[in-house]
Amino acid sequence: MITLPFASHPVSWLTLAEWLWAAGVISWYVLRLPFEMKARRARIADARHRSARDYALLTISTLGLGILPAVFALTGWPRALTYPTSPLQVAAGALVFLAALWLFWRTHRDLGRNWSVTLEIKETHQLITYGVYRQVRHPMYSAFFLWAVAQALLLPNLLAGLSGLVGFGILFAFRVGREEQMMRDAFGAEYDAYMARTKRIIPGLY
Ligand code: SAH
Repeated sequence: MITLPFASHPVSWLTLAEWLWAAGVISWYVLRLPFEMKARRARIADARHRSARDYALLTISTLGLGILPAVFALTGWPRALTYPTSPLQVAAGALVFLAALWLFWRTHRDLGRNWSVTLEIKETHQLITYGVYRQVRHPMYSAFFLWAVAQALLLPNLLAGLSGLVGFGILFAFRVGREEQMMRDAFGAEYDAYMARTKRIIPGLY
């Protein structure tokens, strides 16, 4: 139990962690809004990869990063899979979420109008290779993985904590190859050269 300045009675570390998780998700949404409005105005040139398959992957990812953890934070379900947390674990979760949000913001700023929720090429699409895209080809996916790690640390529940890693992991595994193929179709040798000098999500490693 801890006493917070704004709470009338002491709250548990679990409750605090759940609020931090919610604050992280809301901040992500607010951060993304202005970029989403800007990107929506760009006309689409190639939507062949915006398939039912890609929407199914987005649903699985939303389930893992949003729905299951929200159900746990609101109802405590599935209670049998909850374990005791610690101040250190909560603090680590908050820090990792902050790192994820920072990287998110950087990727949106660098991608600008070229960003999209599903896989598509815009009419005025530019290949971005600067900023955080200089180090890795998929820094936004790195940010989503950081978010999933933060969720695992903040929510001490084997289902709600780990569902983000599994849900986003499935999206990543089934999407990244297709996305790179789509980019190679659109940018040819330029993307091949970009692939040759960068990693996917972890600088220097993978
Ligand atoms: N995979 C990237 C981008 C995610 S948004 C990341 O993790 O940072 C998905 C859209 O971004 C795709 O539809 C694709 O058109 C676009 N995209 C991906 N890499 C890009 C790049 N280097 N430059 C411009 N657009 C890119």
